[in-house]
Amino acid sequence: MSVSVEEKKGPAPGDRRHPEPLHEPLVFERSGEGKVGYSLPPLDVPETVAIPEVLCRPDLAGETEISEVEVARHFTRLSRLNFSIDQALYPLGSCTMKHNPRVNEEVARLPGFASAHPLAPEEVSQGALELAWRLEKILSELTGLARVTLQPAAGAQGELAGILMVRAALAKTGNPRTTVLIPDSAHGTNPASAHFAGYKVRELKSNARGTLDLHVLEEAMTEDVAALMLTVPNTLGIFENQILDIARIVHGKGGYLYCDGANFNSFVGIAKPGAMGIDVMHMNLHKTFSTPHGGGGPGAGPVAVAESLVPFLPRPTVERRTDGAFSLDHDRPESIGRLRTFLGNFGMFVRALAYISSYGNRIGDVARGAVLNANYIRAGLAGVYHLKYDAPTMHEVVFSDKKQTASGIHAMDIGKRLMDYGFHPPTISFPLIVYGALMIEPTETESKTGLDAFVAAMRKIARESEEDPEIVKTAPHTTPVRRVDEVGAARNLVLRWRP
Ligand SMILES: *Cc1c(COP(=O)(O)O)cnc(C)c1O
Repeated sequence: MSVSVEEKKGPAPGDRRHPEPLHEPLVFERSGEGKVGYSLPPLDVPETVAIPEVLCRPDLAGETEISEVEVARHFTRLSRLNFSIDQALYPLGSCTMKHNPRVNEEVARLPGFASAHPLAPEEVSQGALELAWRLEKILSELTGLARVTLQPAAGAQGELAGILMVRAALAKTGNPRTTVLIPDSAHGTNPASAHFAGYKVRELKSNARGTLDLHVLEEAMTEDVAALMLTVPNTLGIFENQILDIARIVHGKGGYLYCDGANFNSFVGIAKPGAMGIDVMHMNLHKTFSTPHGGGGPGAGPVAVAESLVPFLPRPTVERRTDGAFSLDHDRPESIGRLRTFLGNFGMFVRALAYISSYGNRIGDVARGAVLNANYIRAGLAGVYHLKYDAPTMHEVVFSDKKQTASGIHAMDIGKRLMDYGFHPPTISFPLIVYGALMIEPTETESKTGLDAFVAAMRKIARESEEDPEIVKTAPHTTPVRRVDEVGAARNLVLRWRP
């Protein structure tokens, strides 16, 4: 291991935190009479509209008086208390927290893209339309599916779009059916989306390998089932190696195979979902294609569909006319309608296209690197942390806290202790079928040095759990905010500051 984390409480590798908790007052609390952050010329016209009384909130921050320098420093200090992908490995499983290449940011800031007005006429928006058209073509090529809508703002909205298209296609045959099948390892958005689209959800129990059981599927797959929503590879990081049989069973009963493509980063450029019998699949540009996320977006969740679902795509679609010009086609009578204003989160399309273009036909290297890194961590921690499912891992690996619970240490404590060593905690308690789950996804952008440091920290925590469990149970010790009352925070929401 190249980085030592042998000292008891750190300092951790790459630790940039203050050893003592910092007190950073709220910006409202810094307010002081007479402080100004701007300087406007005096009003030289009569003051007209006063703000109506009902809209005035005297209890709110409207009265804050503060200088520009204080605001700048306040937010700069806050930003340094935060953790980001630009600081260290961020192994939040399922979220694919990879480096956001700066060239993408540069391209997205080109004035022609950044200042394009969404209401500008098509004649002066040709570049933007062409970009969307090209991105669609590339995603269509990568998925092996006929067409792609870029509209959905995130994976979850993509799921809804996909299931609504399935519903529209089935409704056209006279029977939209009633049920969607979803394995018990799925992300919570899957059942939510199916329910939102008007379907009942039937959960399918995974087998001992952690994948879908063909017998369970065969029994459940009736002519009342609209679709199977399958995550490939699944949230355990395990590839559904019977995918062709799965597709045969679903199609045999006239159902659709929906793929949750949030894990596309593990096989993009290597295998095509279309060739696996998948009919419809969302992708998360903010995962697989490196557009920034965290802090709530914006994301983008394009959905690729097979030929049979093309008529139902959200409208408008971007088309290339015979004269080579690009235009929006609103005349799509069978469309499920609009899901998002304008084209969607356009800035994300620019970044994703820049990212894909920078790899060109080597895009498969993304998947190879992601799988290699996850397996490196798996090998580095096998035997130290329990692995419930021992099938080969793709881009992420799910351990559990089973070896540590005897000392009273749970996944949450391990995650908190990792913060002392300068890492973001992994995803914990998901997928639900692994009790005490620690779901680790390093992504391809981590170097061997970074992976070694992470493995060393995890091994150190396993040792501490036996020799000095208190230090793990009371972690974090080096962060500006120590252990928070998460249950209290979830149950007693305080979303608004009051003086
Ligand atoms: C992230 C994720 C989703 C939801 O995607 P969002 O873009 O966050 O809405 C769905 N399924 C899986 C497996 C995911 O990892």
